[in-house]
Amino acid sequence: MMLVDKHFSRKYLREETLPTLFCPGCFNGILINALSKAFEELGIEDLRRFVFVSGIGCSSWIPSPYIRADSLHTLHGRAIPVATGIKLAKPELEAVVIAGDGDLASIGLGHLIHAARRNIDIVTVLVNNYVYGMTRGQVSPTTPTELETPTTPYGAFEYPLDICKVIEATNANYVARWTIAHFTQLKDSIKDVFSRITRGFRFIEVIAPCTTYVSRRLGKTPADTIKDLLRESVMVNKAKSMKDKVIIGVFKFEDKPGYIELYRDYIKRAKLNKR
Ligand code: SF4
Repeated sequence: MMLVDKHFSRKYLREETLPTLFCPGCFNGILINALSKAFEELGIEDLRRFVFVSGIGCSSWIPSPYIRADSLHTLHGRAIPVATGIKLAKPELEAVVIAGDGDLASIGLGHLIHAARRNIDIVTVLVNNYVYGMTRGQVSPTTPTELETPTTPYGAFEYPLDICKVIEATNANYVARWTIAHFTQLKDSIKDVFSRITRGFRFIEVIAPCTTYVSRRLGKTPADTIKDLLRESVMVNKAKSMKDKVIIGVFKFEDKPGYIELYRDYIKRAKLNKR
């Protein structure tokens, strides 16, 4: 089942690949819907100027095969270096990475941090489902403490990584977090990173708890999870004095030159032999 509204546009999807292979109630459908709505509202007719790059994991299946655009399904953790190469070779293309916490926040974390440090001109959507869903729900770097998983049967005891805080501390132009319960805000953030800021590293974390290996383990339906997320989320500007909340909102919104512009300028200087 994909959670979609009645105006859902399929024009950005490969019809021949539908229905998706995601589990019933998987929240990846809401992200696909938000992407489609954002493209539609931006008046984007087709996705020819986009290249989607993904790693390994459930959310990495969103662009490849479901989105009707060029896409590269790469090795585990290596989506960012591939997107970096695409952007350097073809700066006119919009390079978009979609991957999960088990990819970008773990084996791919080094690449993620350095791409953000360079402010490389890539849009990255990290889908945080709290576990390694595709391999049956093992603990990941973002698993909430005390969640029981197959690899932490007595409850996760490590501190989870706040990935937005990490990226906020770099030179990335844009950092935001929404949950799948905040559809309009998520869709508007996606619009922003393709229209209001069109350069530099733009990062959106989407909290989308795995319905099969997180919600069900907690005895919750997808609808319960959405209600929980709405109740437990708090906007970043109100969050300072609060604890144990999912802090959502736009953490950073800048428009400084991205790596591609700096790199081109450097090449110009090198050609003129100027230091
Ligand atoms: Fe979605 Fe979890 Fe199923 Fe993966 S395992 S498709 S994240 S519900």
